[in-house]
Amino acid sequence: MAARQTSDIIIIGGGIVGSALAYFLTSSDDGKKVTVIDRAFEQLKGSTGNAPGFVGQFNESEVLTRLAIDSVKEYLKIPGGLDPVGGLEIATSDAGLEKLNWRQTTAKERGLEARIVSAKEAAELAPDLVKPNHVAALHFPGDGTADGAVIAAFYQSEARAQGAELLEADVTKIHRDDGRVTGVATSAGFIEAQTVILATGIWAQTLADFDIPVPVIPVAHPYMFGEHHEPKPYKSPFVRYPEHQVYTRDHGTFFGLGSYNHKPQAEKPKETAFGNWLEEFDSMLDRALKLIPEKTNLTPREKYNGIFSMTPDNMPLVGEIPAAKGLYMAAAVWITHAAGSVKFLTQMLRGETVDAVVRKALDPTRFQGQDLKSLERESLHCYNSIYTTHESS
Ligand SMILES: Cc1cc2nc3c(=O)[nH]c(=O)nc-3n(C[C@H](O)[C@H](O)[C@H](O)COP(=O)(O)OP(=O)(O)OC[C@H]3O[C@@H](n4cnc5c(N)ncnc54)[C@H](O)[C@@H]3O)c2cc1C
Repeated sequence: MAARQTSDIIIIGGGIVGSALAYFLTSSDDGKKVTVIDRAFEQLKGSTGNAPGFVGQFNESEVLTRLAIDSVKEYLKIPGGLDPVGGLEIATSDAGLEKLNWRQTTAKERGLEARIVSAKEAAELAPDLVKPNHVAALHFPGDGTADGAVIAAFYQSEARAQGAELLEADVTKIHRDDGRVTGVATSAGFIEAQTVILATGIWAQTLADFDIPVPVIPVAHPYMFGEHHEPKPYKSPFVRYPEHQVYTRDHGTFFGLGSYNHKPQAEKPKETAFGNWLEEFDSMLDRALKLIPEKTNLTPREKYNGIFSMTPDNMPLVGEIPAAKGLYMAAAVWITHAAGSVKFLTQMLRGETVDAVVRKALDPTRFQGQDLKSLERESLHCYNSIYTTHESS
């Protein structure tokens, strides 16, 4: 008979969220055994491996802003984790500038450096990605681009060095008995544990048999890579065109561009966080590319549909699940907020006092009593206003 496998804490999912959580949980020497389970660690199958990694710290949600600021502090400690190239938001109309003025004032109130720059200065900061004829721009010098795969690999390796076990297996069920978690069934056998955290990203609903709606809705999202170019002698900030729902960046040897300016499309994720390319994405890319200076000659070399999660209020679901003692989740968390979010969850798991405002804003039970179909519709509706986030009151 196979030996009984046990752990104190099981984290399901080894993307940036599960890996960072394993790192922070094993940073104290409380003697608890932490096991991270994923279907594959070497080649990430989830959203973390697909993301262009924009980290814009300012968010209309004060909680998300705080979590992003905390995450940036952590990513800057990781070799190759975050390149602080800055972020630039372009206004192409007076209404757009009005919005940027509000964002600048509010960002500064929250302690972030933010300055309105002229259209000419914006084009000088990112000459390949911004034409000089727009209205103005908002520059966030402290923002950057994060490499999710590098960050996840770093946290995995540090967590392992701190005693975590990384197990490659497929989790098929979370077991509960008498109101508490007892372990997980996996392709490598049953593993007993008193604490289980679901960090399975776009697959969150698969194992979420929790008696509450879990509106973590996987959606299609188009991104493209341009032709290769020689590395530039300067670093451009990443660029957003909020009125056009377009964003773009220099990846070093090629440019990338993505857009939200299409009908939101729910996905049913299979093996990986890649979906099929949709026909309507092509016309959307054509429109988006018109924003880029002609001399850049940005044309698609590769394009893909990367899947990530939406929620009805654009906020992650991080915290305790009351269906069973010892059950927690951390899903719909962006790279931008991952380290900060799991540091919060680590405090909760250790029984420390947590910030009540953050707890309420991220509470996975906040949709209790609502119908999942309507929640899915609301989540899809949020897709086109991805930069406009409201905390539940
Ligand atoms: C195209 C695209 C663009 C994006 N742009 C940005 C951006 O600019 N900025 C930003 O901050 N974020 C961005 N995101 C979002 C960001 O990538 C995700 O929110 C983040 O990576 C989610 O991390 P995660 O660890 O929760 O999930 P994932 O990285 O998806 O990891 C989940 C893991 O769980 C594992 N798993 C699932 N089910 C099981 C099971 N039953 N058994 C075992 N293992 C399981 C999977 O194999 C996977 O490795 C983007 C995403 C995409 C796809």
